[in-house]
Amino acid sequence: MQITEIYKSIQGESSYAGLPCVFVRMTACNLRCTWCDSEYTFTGGRTMTGDEAEAEVQRLAPDGGLVEITGGEPLLQAKDVVPFMQRLLDLGYKVLLETSGERPLAGVPAGVLKIMDVKCPGSGEGASFRAENLDALMPRDEVKFVIADRRDYEFARDFARKNGLNGRVANVIFSPAFKKDAAGARDASHCLVDPRALAEWILADGLDVRLGLQMHKFIWPPDARGV
Ligand code: SF4
Repeated sequence: MQITEIYKSIQGESSYAGLPCVFVRMTACNLRCTWCDSEYTFTGGRTMTGDEAEAEVQRLAPDGGLVEITGGEPLLQAKDVVPFMQRLLDLGYKVLLETSGERPLAGVPAGVLKIMDVKCPGSGEGASFRAENLDALMPRDEVKFVIADRRDYEFARDFARKNGLNGRVANVIFSPAFKKDAAGARDASHCLVDPRALAEWILADGLDVRLGLQMHKFIWPPDARGV
């Protein structure tokens, strides 16, 4: 597998936000979201065997816990990542997979909790979602929309309603996009859409969705790596 980094931090997103988590960040992505904060994953990284990556996860979290497979786009390396996730499950880890929704989800092990990102128009990758992935979602999975403006919000709202997301998955998350060059201050001024505005839109429309702030960007400087 080609891996950019493996590190332990606080989970910043999803319903697991706030919990210690080991992140396995896979190299390469086939999308180019305008606000991407992980461009350093597009190239480079180091080649690791499943044994080496597993040993690093066990070193960082010897007593088990949460492991997130992220990227880049992890499922570009599905041939190796799928058995690796199964190994982690067999060791007793709770495994989260963060994926763009563009790659097929059908082969993901049943024990993995999928956090599927549906790209909104403002990402520049709004047409990337693979519709059949809706059928691969399980009741404990989560669907996330990263929102840059009102148009993105309306896209997410209408997508969630049209596809009955609240009945399909445990959580639907609306998360403000961060400015790509965000640095320094750890506050909401870096969000492309004001979290307060997003909260008010959600309430006004009576949506049963979770407002998700990327917690790690308020704990550490938003351009910090390995957190
Ligand atoms: S899918 Fe993720 S890693 Fe890929 S370009 Fe978009 S935000 Fe960046």
